[in-house]
Amino acid sequence: MSMQHVLVTGGAGYIGAHACKALRNAGFVPVVYDNFSTGWKQAVKFGPVEEGDLLDRATLDHAFAKWRPVAVMHFAALSLVGESMKDPSKYWRTNVMAGLNLIEAAIAAGCLNFVFSSTCATYGDQDGVVLDEATPQFPINAYGGSKRAIEDMLRDFRASHGLQSVIFRYFNVAGADPEAEVGEQHVPETHLIPLMLDAIAGKRPALTVFGSDYPTPDGTCVRDYVHVSDLVDAHVLGLKWLLDGKGSEVFCLGSGNGFSVREVIAQSRAVTNRDVPIIEGARRPGDAAKLVSGSVKAVETLGWQPKRSDLRQMIGDAWRWHQTGSYDY
Ligand code: UDP
Repeated sequence: MSMQHVLVTGGAGYIGAHACKALRNAGFVPVVYDNFSTGWKQAVKFGPVEEGDLLDRATLDHAFAKWRPVAVMHFAALSLVGESMKDPSKYWRTNVMAGLNLIEAAIAAGCLNFVFSSTCATYGDQDGVVLDEATPQFPINAYGGSKRAIEDMLRDFRASHGLQSVIFRYFNVAGADPEAEVGEQHVPETHLIPLMLDAIAGKRPALTVFGSDYPTPDGTCVRDYVHVSDLVDAHVLGLKWLLDGKGSEVFCLGSGNGFSVREVIAQSRAVTNRDVPIIEGARRPGDAAKLVSGSVKAVETLGWQPKRSDLRQMIGDAWRWHQTGSYDY
């Protein structure tokens, strides 16, 4: 039997590149589809690549015709809460129009299995609510809004065309490939853990804590961090779920544990045995006080077994990547 191909949009980005490694290890051929606007050529290591934009339907159709993928994994998106608050049209255009184009191209090619990276940012700020698959979604930023819109599209095209999807709502993805073949690197960097490691390594003067007056135990935002390797393992299970004909589902992917910004800083000091210079700054618009998964569905239904999602392990793997594996540019 010839090997099954999977079209991985955003496969040169942080999570997409880890997904490609997991797919390759599971016996699939990951075909990266990326416009390299934020992705890295050096992150494409586990299969072929088609350079293209999701808004370019002809290139997309060509990729489907050439590789005949059994499924799409759609990671390509803008994903910054702060930027989405300042420039919502960028998010509504890039994420939503690209998503529609991709769905239409997949259906036209007869590829009816779709794994989608969504986000806990679709829930908004729901104080005291346990966030799981049944929680209603009230996004408070354009990033979350654009992801929810694609979730809605997937439901509509399931009804009209039989498109089957596994939607994963990620909490905060962190860490790096334990073998440091790929890792987290953004330009500009905006995420807490890589910025903190930069500050620890002396590449930035300090880390700014965005808000210390939230209604949380220590006043800083609480997030649920999940290891990128565990997260992409769930994607392979989701893909197999679809290929087994089990149908559309939504799964939250988090560890179920909440850590404040201050707790992440403390753990980073412990892991690296170095100090982190801190500046107490203002809140970042669009941030919810607390986002923690209350879901066990991925574990119970999909058979997901997170292995590396404790904070020490995630920061340790991120630190190893930061020191030994970063991409050159
Ligand atoms: N954060 C911070 N300083 C930074 C970057 C992030 O205090 O320089 C906080 C941010 O307000 C949020 C948490 O760290 O509460 C995680 O932010 P990140 O951007 O990593 O992920 P997001 O929650 O936006 O997906």
